[in-house]
This record gives sequence, structure tokens and C-alpha cells, in this order.
Amino acid sequence: MSASFLPYGRQSIDEADIAAVIEVLKSDFLTQGPAIPRFEKAVAGWCGAQQGIAMANGTATLHCAAKALGLGHGDLLWTSPITFVASANAGRYCGAKVDFVDVDPGTVLMCPQRLEAKLIQAEKEGTLPKVVVPVHFAGQSCDMPRIHALGQKYGFKIIEDAAHALGGEFEGERIGNCRWSDAASHSFHPVKIVTSGEGGMITTNDDELAWRIALLRTHGITREAGRMVNESHGGWYYEQLELGFNYRMTDLQAALGASQMTRLEAFAQRRREIADLYDRELAGLPLRAPARDPRGISGWHLYMIRLNLKEIRHTRREVFDKLRADGIGVNVHYIPVHLQPDYQKLGFAKGMFPESERYYDEAITLPMFPSMTDEDVIRVRDSLKRALKL
Ligand SMILES: *Cc1c(COP(=O)(O)O)cnc(C)c1O
Repeated sequence: MSASFLPYGRQSIDEADIAAVIEVLKSDFLTQGPAIPRFEKAVAGWCGAQQGIAMANGTATLHCAAKALGLGHGDLLWTSPITFVASANAGRYCGAKVDFVDVDPGTVLMCPQRLEAKLIQAEKEGTLPKVVVPVHFAGQSCDMPRIHALGQKYGFKIIEDAAHALGGEFEGERIGNCRWSDAASHSFHPVKIVTSGEGGMITTNDDELAWRIALLRTHGITREAGRMVNESHGGWYYEQLELGFNYRMTDLQAALGASQMTRLEAFAQRRREIADLYDRELAGLPLRAPARDPRGISGWHLYMIRLNLKEIRHTRREVFDKLRADGIGVNVHYIPVHLQPDYQKLGFAKGMFPESERYYDEAITLPMFPSMTDEDVIRVRDSLKRALKL
């Protein structure tokens, strides 16, 4: 038994990353300097999207994208219950109401059939959503062509929550290229695929949307002559055109992010290797490995298993505690958002999204990060075997 703690996720920082940040510290700009456009180009370029807008964190990108798409009071945003709270909170920041579409029991992604059924019902009731946020949970893409087709039919906008998915693909299209959406939101929190400390980015192919999101990033303020309402009073002049925020990223963060982007390919490949190794090593145990949609390649932010609770004599909690006691930093992603007390206050209750709740009762997230070794995977397997047997 190893004494060291194996976390579920961990950043991978090398000397080039450190040098990139130091270079910014010695430069003229700590924020709003040249590292921001460099990072924006790196991410948008990788994804194959026309525009990238870097922001303070992923949550800010979801908020601004929803607002820039016109979401406001009286509107609805739909997302998946199996996500980080940010995907849903973004709608509430805009004053909109939030609702959920239950997940597919296999992939744990927003289920297109359930989405369609809910849209048919909502059309009758006059409660169609303005924005839908499909979450590429664990790194695997939702069925975007189908969700996009439903968006065309029912008139909603789409923001992909791609916080887990940088480096992944669907039907040969890189996640984040917005082939089937209005915008995609990325996060650079240290546990995510690449990190900038804190940070986020919107990718989009819609120039006007990109402009509006960039406006919201800095208080709704512009200095562009063609956009201002009045004649300029002089070189100091700017105008606030709408109520925005201070959601800027610093150049320190952008330099780190841009440097990390040079290793995205290697990170993604190592994550795929670890996932394949887990699949092989866990075969035959009383659990389900993540279901893979053969149309895509996952970004593999998370590797989550589902315990076969009928076959084992333990609860999920007992298995989880045993693994933690062994120094395995297991986690659970996610507590369904509608079960959060703050969402229950809005009228959501247990039983409303049964597939999400069933998944939650069985799920454990195993460690997954690029610097994990094959021996680490074996250590997780052995600990899991002991925990399941006892
Ligand atoms: C991390 C995450 C976010 C938000 O990212 P932050 O950068 O932490 O604000 C949004 N959605 C999902 C699914 C995430 O995992």
C-alpha cells in the first residue's frame, strides 16, 4: 500500500509554462496585454472556431454567452442535471428560469429523445427554452447534430458546455468548433484538460456574438467609434452601452494557458491511454465502465464508473470510503443539480430526473490526469478490487 495520495485530477506544469508566466511578470502588461490574443488564437485555432474570447473563468463565459444570446427575465435555459452547478447558474444570473433534461442512462449525456419529448410538451404549454446548454460530461460530446436539428425546429440557441471536452471530437469535428452550436464554453481550472489557474474561453463562429461577449467582459464598455452612441469627446472617451462585468483574464493566466496549449495533443493522448487501460484492467469487476459513443473521441476529463450495487454487498459510500482510506482520491461527479438545496427552493424535487438520480447513486470518479502512470492505474484497480470484495 502506497502512502502517497493519488488525486482525481491534477495539473501538469513544466518549465516552459513557468518561463512563460515569468516573462509576463517582467513585461509591461500584467493584464490586457499580448498574451490574451495569443491564448485566444491558440484555443480557437485548435478547435477550428473563428473567434475565442478569454475570460476570468468558465462560469463567466457561460453567463456572458447566455446574456449575449438574449437570455433574460421570463426566458428559460435548459441543461443537464449531471453537471457542475455553473451550467445552470448561468441562466439564473441572467434572470431566466432553469429547467433540466434527463440524461441518457448509457452515456449520462443530455438525452436527445427526452429533449424532444420535453420540447413537444413545452411548445403546447408555451414554455419553450431560449437557450439549451448540452454538457459534454466527462469529455464525451453530446449528440450535437440531433440537438442542433431540434434547435432549428424549436428556435432555441445552443451553448455547448465543453469544460470537460477540449481535445475531443464528434463525427470528425473537433469539440469547440461550434459546427452545431452558437458558442462553446471552456474552462481552464487546474483539474481541467489545460489550465490557466482560473480561466475560461468562449469559442464561436458568430462575429457579432463574439463582439457582444467581449463587451460584457469589460463592463459593457467600448471605445470603437462605429459602435458608440455619441461623438467622441477626445482620446480618453469611452461609452458603457449596457451593464457588463469585469470578467477579464490576466496576461499571467493567458501566458500559462497558451503555453499549456502546445501540449494539448499529448495531454489528450495520455488521457485516452489511461481510459483504455482502465477499461482493460477493470473488465470483469461488478461495475460499468463509461459508455463510449463510437461517433466521437472523448476528451476524457473524467473516468467514472458505475457500481453494480445488486452484485456487491456494499454501498457506494462504503466503496468510496475504502478507496479514500487507501489514498485513492476518488470523487463523485456530480450531485444532480436539481437536488441542491438552492434548486429545491425553486420547486425541484427528488424523483424528477430519475436517470440522473440513478447514475448519481452508483457513480464513483476514479483518478485521471496526464501525469498518472500505468502503475497508478494498477494501484486503483487493486484498491477497487479489495473494496468491492470485503
Ligand atoms: C469546471 C466547469 C465549469 C465552470 O468552470 P470554472 O472555470 O470553474 O468557472 C462549467 N461546467 C462544467 C461542467 C465544469 O466542469
